[in-house]
Amino acid sequence: MADNKAERRKSDNVLLDTALQEFYGAADEMGLSEKLIAILSHAERRLEVSVPVEMDDGSVKVFKGYRVQHSTALGPAKGGIRYDTEVDVDECEALAMLMTWKCSLAGIPYGGGKGGIACDPLSMSKKEKEKLSRAFGARIAPIIGDWSDVPAPDMNTGGQEMVWIMDTVSKLHGRFEPALLTGKPIPYWGSKGRTEATGRGVATCGLELMKKLDKNPADIKAAIQGFGNVGSYTAKTLSDAGVKVVAISDITGSYYNPNGLDINKAFEIINHDPKHLLNGFEKFGAEKIEDALFAECDFLFPCARDGVINNQTASKVKAKYIVEGANGPTTPAADKILIQNGALIVPDFLANSGGVIGSYFEWAQNLQGFFWSEEEYNDRLVHIMKGNFNRVWDYAKAKNIKMRRAATMAAIQRVADVVELRGIFL
Ligand code: GLU
Repeated sequence: MADNKAERRKSDNVLLDTALQEFYGAADEMGLSEKLIAILSHAERRLEVSVPVEMDDGSVKVFKGYRVQHSTALGPAKGGIRYDTEVDVDECEALAMLMTWKCSLAGIPYGGGKGGIACDPLSMSKKEKEKLSRAFGARIAPIIGDWSDVPAPDMNTGGQEMVWIMDTVSKLHGRFEPALLTGKPIPYWGSKGRTEATGRGVATCGLELMKKLDKNPADIKAAIQGFGNVGSYTAKTLSDAGVKVVAISDITGSYYNPNGLDINKAFEIINHDPKHLLNGFEKFGAEKIEDALFAECDFLFPCARDGVINNQTASKVKAKYIVEGANGPTTPAADKILIQNGALIVPDFLANSGGVIGSYFEWAQNLQGFFWSEEEYNDRLVHIMKGNFNRVWDYAKAKNIKMRRAATMAAIQRVADVVELRGIFL
């Protein structure tokens, strides 16, 4: 392999190019060999499938679906499946690479994968979503499995979609395979604690950061963008710890109260709303504002989607501490602006790794057919999250670098060591 950096892979896809540039930056800083850079800058496998669905009106729509395995160096590929209009194969690859670093940093025995279907789930009926999930499951069945590639929920998917996919793939494989994917509902081989795990982990990072800053949670004002699985449980965990959650948001708008919002009420509302949205929350002591991202607060938790903190929005962010609950919420240009403005950022693949750590617990329990108590699950999760946060914090301080760079370097190192150990065969 020529020692020529000009040959490095680039992408027209913003998310993939960002993932590659962050990888090259960290790889160069740690002196990673060009050989390893070449290997790790490519996904092992990118699968594209066509998924036909007979819609409720009798017409047939063909959806595009993807599953990308970035690396299986450390173990089976692991990562979610998302349903979103923006999904494409390059986005899946970028997110699969992020999963490789996330699992590596978390210290769990997985590589990185990601998949998804380009669709608008909010405009589809339950029956249509079931057909879509089952047909997609059948299409990706040849490459997923409990010891090869283990999917999980991601944007706009949850326990129900996992059951449809698992049920279909188990039948096709001809054996019951509960560890085939994670994030399943509790009555069907799921784990108590998994639903809350990502948000609990995000909040744990926030609370650890408050400790480092010597701040009392009760003196902190937090804003949370997104009130899906990640944002809602981040808000709840923070609020239970005494933090004043002053802003929350979803596609119905952003809600604000400088004295703190009633998060239990917000849960009541989404639990009663057919689309699981915050419709009508303004009636409960909340004022509508432009965007939770720009709320007057100390800590911001962007938990909605990628790219929301960008060139246009970064300078409007008031928070000094940003804990990334979503994958890729901050573009590289915005990262620079935030840092210039004195912000400290806890990167996504550290902050939101509680989800995949929780998935690892579920997978391990499924393989054993032995279930833990919720308390054991939560205690282990919080213990690992605190340890990982502190490791990255200390490493960043020791090297005098930002947390994102420190986390990326530590994650790459573990994968690189194993690639060297296993050798280059495939
Ligand atoms: N979708 C989640 C993530 O991005 C969870 C992945 C998993 O549990 O495999 O981290």
